[in-house]
Amino acid sequence: MASSKTSISARSLVLASCVLIPCLFAACPKDNVPVKPRVGVSTAKPAPTKPIPTVAPVFSADRAMQHVRQQLDFGPRPPDTMALEKTRNYIISELKSYGLRVSTDEFTAKTPLGDKRMANIVGDFPGETKDIVAVASHYDTKFYDDMRFVGANDPAASVATLLEIARVLGNSKEKPKLTYRVVFFDGEEALCEGWDECSKPEAPDNTYGSRRYVSQLKAQGDLKSTRALILLDMMGYTKLELGRDPSSTRWLQDIIWQAGRELGHSKVFVDRQEGVGGDDHEPFLDAGIPAVDMIQLSGYPYWHKADDDFDKISADSIKIVGDTVLASLPRIVSYVQANGG
Ligand SMILES: [Zn+2]
Repeated sequence: MASSKTSISARSLVLASCVLIPCLFAACPKDNVPVKPRVGVSTAKPAPTKPIPTVAPVFSADRAMQHVRQQLDFGPRPPDTMALEKTRNYIISELKSYGLRVSTDEFTAKTPLGDKRMANIVGDFPGETKDIVAVASHYDTKFYDDMRFVGANDPAASVATLLEIARVLGNSKEKPKLTYRVVFFDGEEALCEGWDECSKPEAPDNTYGSRRYVSQLKAQGDLKSTRALILLDMMGYTKLELGRDPSSTRWLQDIIWQAGRELGHSKVFVDRQEGVGGDDHEPFLDAGIPAVDMIQLSGYPYWHKADDDFDKISADSIKIVGDTVLASLPRIVSYVQANGG
């Protein structure tokens, strides 16, 4: 009986690998199943001569950290600078290499420091419908004329995390039920020192890119097709702890916090309130689009300081957020579909 057990289990193993691993090699089809498989139940060791191709790509913290390093190498990256243009080109070429459909929306923003050319970047992974679940980050750094500010956590870490999320989505073999979109906003930061220091009622001095993005949705009659927005901002700190932004949409926040805790990160996804005060998710909320901000603002001592540098962020934190967002996306899609989708 032992030998027949062995042969059944070996056969199912081979069959399973044909189902689970794409048949990239000619040896895979079922008529080539070995007569005497070498795989046993307990004695023989599997000895593959070639590395097994990765079926489901996973979030790579190493790759994300390279994206952070690359952005810091470009230097300070305020709107309408050569450094931000290099960052933009880098993001675009990465997204294209992942197989995403990429577009940019260039516009001129009137700011307290004069007209600034800005551009949002959009990457799509088309699903079965045109309804969209979006994940976003801003990619500009705050402008300072008296300080070299490179923004490792604000925003290089969130840009890097979003790029790596995009790569995993782009490599997915399964067509999602809804379209997944990544958005990189220009001009989130105020050009004056304070967030609202130079804001006027109809002309805030912040969130230029996200306000532009939502106004374009409105103009195109596309508000309803955006079903949810996840915003990443300042989530790479070595001592990561994400509290709940009270303005965010509760069901969306609950799905993400629950997924994070199920992945073993209950110390990161905590219930205390996180005072945000304003961010790129607000224009979405104002337009009736469910949105959530994943941000560690109050607990980040290097916010808008020259010390917001590479040593303040960690691969572990970035991976926690990347894995959690990727685990949340299908749940968000299910929720949306169950609630009028
Ligand atoms: Zn900032």
